[in-house]
Amino acid sequence: MTKKLLVATRNSGKVQEFSRMLSDMPFEVVGLDDLGIDIEVEETGSTFEENAVLKARAYAEVSGELTLADDSGLVVDALNGEPGVLSARYGGDGLDDEGRVQLVLDKMNHLPGWERTARFVAVLALAGDEVPNGLATSEGVIEGAIMHEPIGENGFGYDPVFWLATHAKTTAQLTGEEKDEISHRGSALRGLSETLKSLT
Ligand code: IMP
Repeated sequence: MTKKLLVATRNSGKVQEFSRMLSDMPFEVVGLDDLGIDIEVEETGSTFEENAVLKARAYAEVSGELTLADDSGLVVDALNGEPGVLSARYGGDGLDDEGRVQLVLDKMNHLPGWERTARFVAVLALAGDEVPNGLATSEGVIEGAIMHEPIGENGFGYDPVFWLATHAKTTAQLTGEEKDEISHRGSALRGLSETLKSLT
């Protein structure tokens, strides 16, 4: 029987992204909604790692399944690391992805290219009884810079303003597969691949 891997998110985009990246491993990837889990674990940590661990442990406990949780976000040097762990909620509940992107652009309006450095960071946490010591974590980072205006239709969140000098494109101009190869979530997941393989 294929082993279940719960990806602890309600974001169907993320479930899809992880399913795609894990397609060469014999896991049945499911999201919280697939298992009818409706409790919410608050992201009360002050680091990506704290939040990822909090979610992985709590949802592994509730589901009894091997559980992968992530916390990720955009870290902008000129904004002292903001939006950081607040990336999904930056500017408050009234804003959507487009509004949050605009808020970052407005705050950086006066800054020249060389002061627009930023990175996407992702920490993944894998929890479950079968994981050595009950927990494994991995961090991935991708370096870039913030554009002056959005370009590109793919991806989500801050992708349209995240410029990759190596590709001369924003991450919103990459295909899903191209992004997986270089993304912060992709490299964090590769860091867990040996542990995941040992559990199949
Ligand atoms: P969380 O990890 O679900 O708490 O939220 C991460 C937030 O960071 C997302 O809602 C996006 O705003 C931002 N973010 C994380 N990864 C990416 C990415 O690959 N592209 C664009 N935005 C991202």
